[in-house]
Amino acid sequence: MIQAKNVFKTFYAPHAINALVDVSANIAAGEVVVVIGPSGSGKSTFLRCLNRLEHATSGHIYIDGLDVLDRRTDINKVRAEVGMVFQSFNLFPHKTVLENVTLAQKVVRKRSGNAARQKAMTLLEKVGISDKINVFPDQLSGGQQQRVAIARALAMEPKVMLFDEPTSALDPEMIGEVLDVMKTLAREGMTMVVVTHEMGFAREVADRVIFMDAGAIVEEGTPEHFFTNPTHDRTKLFLSQIL
Ligand code: ADP
Ligand code: MG
Repeated sequence: MIQAKNVFKTFYAPHAINALVDVSANIAAGEVVVVIGPSGSGKSTFLRCLNRLEHATSGHIYIDGLDVLDRRTDINKVRAEVGMVFQSFNLFPHKTVLENVTLAQKVVRKRSGNAARQKAMTLLEKVGISDKINVFPDQLSGGQQQRVAIARALAMEPKVMLFDEPTSALDPEMIGEVLDVMKTLAREGMTMVVVTHEMGFAREVADRVIFMDAGAIVEEGTPEHFFTNPTHDRTKLFLSQIL
């Protein structure tokens, strides 16, 4: 479903930084991959290159056969196939919950108002927000906002869901409700790439864990391998710091 081959990303301002250094990863349909690594190791840049929020400097990225880096590829097509959920929710503040979940369906997927509303209601029910459809984001808790953001992404019927530290901005008591929604998605067979520091989630849900450091993939393996028998010193050091 996702094929990243020899991906490099260099930022030139304020000074040259190799944010991704020869990153290659194949992620199968239905696979759940958790990406971990220290701050600044390139985790967000990797996700952002997958849906072309950042344009990789070189390499190849295919999403279900769609050539993401080919400038002729319709960016809206890529974004429609790749849902993304951010740490900071990024809901439209001046739109209601329902409007947040129907807008892109109408604009990008060209659905009628009715069809978009029905789809939205089904998904908002699924994430447990169906009683709040007419409120604005600032009237919701962080956990509720993040669940709306997940519903909004799912409304596009993406082939892949990317999560960039979806629970990092949440109060502790709200982390579980968001992880539960993600676990359900994983169980239903969604292809997911999840950057998170929630090691319990990684252990329980990940098919594979990727550890990044300094822009490169240092080590990858099953959660079992990762948490009981990591090979590289940098992985061991990182795990000793967070566990
Ligand atoms: P992580 O998500 O693992 O914390 P990032 O992917 O955000 O790491 O960042 C990787 C490196 O790229 C860091 O050194 C960061 O400062 C740099 N970087 C990220 N985005 C930009 C940008 N838009 N401009 C310049 N440098 C950036
Ligand atoms: Mg990040």
